Amino acid sequence: MSNLHMGDEVVLTAADLATLYDILMQQGFQAVGPTIQDGGLVLDVLGGPADLPQGWTSEAEAGSFRLAPRTDAAFFGYNLGMESWKKFFYPPRLALLQVQSRDDGGLHFQACSQEALPLALIGVRACELAALAVQDRIFLEGPYQDPVYAERRRAHFIIAVNCTEADAACFCASLGTGPGVTAGFDLALTEIINDREHLFLVTVGSSQGAAVMANLPHRPAWEELRQQARDLVRQAARSQSRALSTADLPRLLYDNYSHPQWDDVGARCLNCGNCALVCPTCFCHRLEDAIDLEGREAERWRLWDVCHTLQFSYIHGGCIRVSPKSRYRQWLTHKLAAWIDQFGTLGCVGCGRCLVWCPVAIDLTAEIPAIRGQQVKM
Ligand code: SF4
Ligand code: SF4
Repeated sequence: MSNLHMGDEVVLTAADLATLYDILMQQGFQAVGPTIQDGGLVLDVLGGPADLPQGWTSEAEAGSFRLAPRTDAAFFGYNLGMESWKKFFYPPRLALLQVQSRDDGGLHFQACSQEALPLALIGVRACELAALAVQDRIFLEGPYQDPVYAERRRAHFIIAVNCTEADAACFCASLGTGPGVTAGFDLALTEIINDREHLFLVTVGSSQGAAVMANLPHRPAWEELRQQARDLVRQAARSQSRALSTADLPRLLYDNYSHPQWDDVGARCLNCGNCALVCPTCFCHRLEDAIDLEGREAERWRLWDVCHTLQFSYIHGGCIRVSPKSRYRQWLTHKLAAWIDQFGTLGCVGCGRCLVWCPVAIDLTAEIPAIRGQQVKM
């Protein structure tokens, strides 16, 4: 047993990942992490480290994503897939309530069970931790707490991973949300592969993380390895070609409600809603009631929704954002301006998903400079 504390750094070998997984299973967690499914990265239940996309890398650009084989056996040698971890805390579809008609003509209401296994999230990146912190402000720290989110956030274990390579779509460095993790994890890994060894430098981020590591044989970290880890993360930051300057936000967007760039983007936007669905901070939803054909049973569901549909802007009597331009403007202005007023934080963490999964490659890191009247540098 070692006596580890927050901030301590130790070293595991690649083979130790299986033992770490076993310890988390023994402690009653269900492990979830990136897997390869249908040619993409899907966050799903892991049967062990072998289910991770070992030996694969991601190539993500505005409007495109592909996986490609690596020349090494890295477990975390890719960046982000389409899905974010929010789906585990804030599910896309959630049954809230069941209603049944009683024989005496009355109605029986019952809240749906929201029990969920405690999760061990394996492979969470820095921008994702920042996104979870943003969602905490919305669901936990505002005037209304979401009990489902609160319960799921309480019982989990996070193994974060420092990014040592960036995709072309990433711009977390410009927002200070990555590529190195700083807070919000139990353990943080930096994967280092050299001629001789395949190692993980592990940073302990919580007492829960320290307790898990105490059960795992490990070596103390040495300075050369620490330096190598720092250099890899710095290099990942330096290699990011995209950036988002926030210096004049939110004023820039409030003062440019009628900027011609909104017409331009409105003409390109398909209003498909992908950008909001893949965004790790977006939180809009709607309620839907499903009633059986006999009218005896009904269920109330909460489903993710997006700013981009006409129906989402329906307020008693009609829709208030009738043009595609107005709906995209609402999305971006909320994320980069009104969000700051509401929650004291930007609604963007620089993950790049919205531009990768936009079918027409609309890129907020190009739209904002265009509104500023700057040339877009790529
Ligand atoms: S707005 Fe785009 S880049 Fe920013 S957090 Fe959402 S998906 Fe990621
Ligand atoms: S910006 Fe792109 S992803 Fe978002 S709604 Fe428009 S077309 Fe879809």
